[in-house]
Amino acid sequence: MSGFYDYFDVAVVGAGHAGIESAMACAKMGLKTLIITQSIDAIGRMSCNPSIGGIAKGNIVREIDALGGQMAKIIDNSMIQFRMLNKSRGPAVQAPRSQADKLTYAQIARKILETTPNLCTLMDTVTDIITTASSTPMPPNSDSAAEVGSIPGEVRNQGTTQAAKSGMRQKVTGIVTERGRVISVRSVVLTTGTFLGGRIFIGEYDAPCGRVGEQAAFGLTESLHRLGFTTGRLKTGTPPRILKSTIDFSKLEEQAGDEEIIPFSFETEKVNRPMVPCHIVYTNENTHEIIRANINRSPLFSGKISGIGPRYCPSIEDKVMRFKERDRHQIFVEPEGIETDEMYLNGFSSSLPESVQDSFMRTMPGFENAVQSRPGYAVEYDYVEPTQLFPSLETKRVAGLFNAGQINGTSGYEEAAGQGLIAGMNAGLYAKAHQQLCGPLSKIPETLTGTPCSTEPGHFFLHGNMSNAELEEFAKISEKITCQLNKNQEETQKQAGFNHFQDIPQWEPIVLGRDEAYIGVLIDDLVTLGTKEPYRMFTARAEYRLKLRHDTADRRLTKYAFKAGLKSQAQMDKVEAKYAQLEEIVAQLIKKPHMENPGYPQELWNEALIDYKYKYYIEKQDRRVEKMHKMENVKIPADFDYGAIPSLSAESRFKLEQVRPLTLGQAERISGIRNSDIMLLMVYLK
Ligand SMILES: Cc1cc2nc3c(=O)[nH]c(=O)nc-3n(C[C@H](O)[C@H](O)[C@H](O)COP(=O)(O)OP(=O)(O)OC[C@H]3O[C@@H](n4cnc5c(N)ncnc54)[C@H](O)[C@@H]3O)c2cc1C
Repeated sequence: MSGFYDYFDVAVVGAGHAGIESAMACAKMGLKTLIITQSIDAIGRMSCNPSIGGIAKGNIVREIDALGGQMAKIIDNSMIQFRMLNKSRGPAVQAPRSQADKLTYAQIARKILETTPNLCTLMDTVTDIITTASSTPMPPNSDSAAEVGSIPGEVRNQGTTQAAKSGMRQKVTGIVTERGRVISVRSVVLTTGTFLGGRIFIGEYDAPCGRVGEQAAFGLTESLHRLGFTTGRLKTGTPPRILKSTIDFSKLEEQAGDEEIIPFSFETEKVNRPMVPCHIVYTNENTHEIIRANINRSPLFSGKISGIGPRYCPSIEDKVMRFKERDRHQIFVEPEGIETDEMYLNGFSSSLPESVQDSFMRTMPGFENAVQSRPGYAVEYDYVEPTQLFPSLETKRVAGLFNAGQINGTSGYEEAAGQGLIAGMNAGLYAKAHQQLCGPLSKIPETLTGTPCSTEPGHFFLHGNMSNAELEEFAKISEKITCQLNKNQEETQKQAGFNHFQDIPQWEPIVLGRDEAYIGVLIDDLVTLGTKEPYRMFTARAEYRLKLRHDTADRRLTKYAFKAGLKSQAQMDKVEAKYAQLEEIVAQLIKKPHMENPGYPQELWNEALIDYKYKYYIEKQDRRVEKMHKMENVKIPADFDYGAIPSLSAESRFKLEQVRPLTLGQAERISGIRNSDIMLLMVYLK
């Protein structure tokens, strides 16, 4: 591996759950990869609940595994309780969930990153993305499809850099960090979580943090504005952590895990981990009374927070105020790990003052003397409205720039990791095509440095409330680096016999269908519908959930991992052999429905039994999928003139022009687009 003042094929910004998957995918694809994160010690940190999986989320973890990702393997080696949820219900809604040992989880994630060939980790903060104008016109309607003024904390920008103002599509050439490093890159994946312009709130206290005790990241949002991106603000919250030794567990209901542990990874044979129980407790009228009496001290209710929070994961004060008829709320008491005394109160998120959190917590049985080690808090942060992305997670206006995770408006480790993997695979494919077309990247000369940022006098100071003069100065610094880096880059490529500095490579992205993966549903929802509140996955979002069972993820997705080079031929062959055997079992069951397992592996037998039992429904769903594919595959030209269809309503035309769907299938899913509009489009596309 060459030295630092060199170049990287791919730079991944942030080493949370999305960043880990992106960086690992690129490094495993043989690309020289850099993962830059604000703190190496926070790699793979679980910001909130100490658990992985759950309804629909568990399916995503198994999909990540089938696609060659890391999350399933990490949780198999760090779990401290396992449960298969919804065991008494249909197979489409069953899902694995595990409590995680937070410290072990993060330790394993860090070790994987640090020991993977082709991958470098660097502790720094990225403050700027450098681009050049390309020779390709800007894709039509690359702006956010959301109505102007409808995004919480909206900042719209048409772009102020030379490249953005050129009217052509931009192309990534480098990044700049807070300490003034300039790095040449072919592609970039942004996975910045809750850190861009992050601000935490606890009662009357607020401070610039991405998570409590961790610095917010400034500069990158302003850089994205200069490139022409629209951003908004969202918020999320977390409960207080309590010291285990101060809880009287004799007053709590115990919740043990399952005896049978099904590994998340298709490659883990057996999970061998110590298991511990969780507990359940309930709030009561006294808890609610204290919350109600102090509600005006909540930053949510006092109007201090403008970001919109996750509707499906409300704070305890939200629940008490919204569901007045409820006299109690269930709280899960979950250990954060074996080697820590901290306990997590699932369902008890709060941003009321610490003293108030203390008082209402102590009204619960067993918590009379409980002591907090960390307070609950809310965090507000910038996100990039996701209709500005293609389904590959590449941004429409900047080629080679990909976004994944919470920056796209989602919430949850699994949602972040799933996007991270797809963005990583695609950033890797883009980088390979770039290598072919454009040749080498330039090494960075010692003379080319950015401006180090610091709060010390004499340095440029990036912060959350920059004045216009400061923003202008920041933009000037950025333009200067852009000129030097791009000149350097173009010369290097010319000297090596390549003359395509401004050309965008052609490449075929990996895009998962809605009938293939929850990750496909998630990304399609984000890029087609956008989101104005933290998006999390539910089974109800998937039309074809019977096809998306957690046990079928390898059947559905290994081919994509193989295509990207993340799984070997041997791994692919193994999956194909497994499913040939499954078909053999189903054929036997059709002939002899009551036959016993003659000796097939039990897991495969169980999967075949489900396939057999739901054969009729699966086939019906397959027919719907086939019909959808026929329509899905009808491509809509990027410059299609919707104005040429006179009977299209003005509203529908506006929406279609904003989103610019690539296919009829994508057009059909745009909120407010009617069947009649699709019929009209079909006629004009023939
Ligand atoms: C307070 C809180 C409560 C939450 N509650 C829930 C919940 O109840 N349920 C749930 O499912 N999810 C919850 N989440 C969300 C969950 O933590 C995230 O969805 C998930 O971690 C997102 O993963 P990510 O990879 O996108 O970002 P993160 O895991 O946040 O990682 C982002 C990483 O990027 C780094 N970074 C950011 N900007 C830069 C930069 N410019 N340069 C270099 N590095 C940078 C950060 O230091 C960090 O390491 C919560 C998060 C927080 C903070």
